[in-house]
Amino acid sequence: MTAPVHVTVLGAGILGAATAHHLARQGARVSVIDADTRDARSTTASFACVNGSAKTDPDLAALNDRAVEEHRRIAHTLGPAAVRFTGQHFVATDPDSLRIAEQRVNAAHSRGYGGELLPAGALRDREPHLRLDRPPLAVAWFPADGWADPEALRTHFLTGLTTHHRKAIAISPTRSGRLQITFADGDRTDTDRVVNATGAGAADIEVPGPRPPLHVMPGFVVAADAARDLVTTVVRTPQLGIRPDGSRRALLHSHDIDSLFERDQTTVELAAETLLNRARRMFPDAGHIAPRRITRGPRPIPADGKPAIGESANLPGYYELSAHSGITLAPLLGRLLATEILTEIRDPILSPFRPGWVCLGNGVRREAL
Ligand SMILES: Cc1cc2nc3c(=O)[nH]c(=O)nc-3n(C[C@H](O)[C@H](O)[C@H](O)COP(=O)(O)OP(=O)(O)OC[C@H]3O[C@@H](n4cnc5c(N)ncnc54)[C@H](O)[C@@H]3O)c2cc1C
Repeated sequence: MTAPVHVTVLGAGILGAATAHHLARQGARVSVIDADTRDARSTTASFACVNGSAKTDPDLAALNDRAVEEHRRIAHTLGPAAVRFTGQHFVATDPDSLRIAEQRVNAAHSRGYGGELLPAGALRDREPHLRLDRPPLAVAWFPADGWADPEALRTHFLTGLTTHHRKAIAISPTRSGRLQITFADGDRTDTDRVVNATGAGAADIEVPGPRPPLHVMPGFVVAADAARDLVTTVVRTPQLGIRPDGSRRALLHSHDIDSLFERDQTTVELAAETLLNRARRMFPDAGHIAPRRITRGPRPIPADGKPAIGESANLPGYYELSAHSGITLAPLLGRLLATEILTEIRDPILSPFRPGWVCLGNGVRREAL
């Protein structure tokens, strides 16, 4: 009998957790290693809307649609970690957001994902506690979207696995054809395969060959307690993204607040108060709305905006797994990557996202593998 393949998964965020889960289920011997920099974990700071509706690029849209389907397929196995398929309202209150709403509805409609433009007044019946500063120009409705509790999902995937707290700094080939991981304390260990799912830390781990830097943006959410349920669906307006987060709980996020952190123009306290005040203004009959958890984290975006998924051309046995929209994508990507590592069956849906990095001019670009 041959020994099972030993796969080391670096990073215990949602993407590493889902991959480790599927590798273990498919018979691999799995080690999970995480630097345990909690405040540097994107998963903990995520708004965690599970959706295909925000993508209009055809390759990304196809990937996200299938990932949403995967969440539906496994929902019965996840217990309280399962996605709540509440649907999403995208509220357009200015010409820019109207254009985005129309683009998303047209794209979703044409690929059969489901999306429609509702009359501006429809929101009043659907989210009766919500008051907007100005009447919406339109409301886009995406019934297939939902939201997840990202920490519950992460914990579910890590059940039965041990996470070792160490920081990896380099991966190199060994003479025997295995891979060697070097840790920040100078220690080294050999393994058969490595998955780099270290989120914002991914480009800092030294590997042979070129690799583009990641664009790491700040992300910020406030989990709030309220005297009543504020919304029943995911609602995105230009001022506030809000979704349910359990009974009489809501999660608040706004892209403009994230950008303030990027330019050091706010503090965690100020940003939290701004989001809470927006929620209080938009839900005037809600009673108290108070912060329960305030989380700032990184939001890594691969340099060309597309996920990087698969084996490196420069280092056989070394796999990259780096994606924004990771909460949506994790169950699908974790399963497909585990299958690929253990059986070499490659799903064609991942073809546009292979990490075929080559040096071109001053930068590093992706080439089809
Ligand atoms: C504000 C915000 C809103 C978002 N909204 C959505 C949304 O609505 N829908 C959606 O699908 N996605 C959303 N995302 C994106 C999503 O949360 C991320 O894509 C996803 O969490 C990335 O998961 P990950 O496992 O790649 O990274 P992470 O969760 O960051 O995990 C990486 C792990 O690697 C560890 N690590 C780092 N360096 C090392 C090292 N050298 N050695 C060992 N371990 C290391 C870290 O400690 C960390 O635990 C949002 C993100 C943010 C911040």
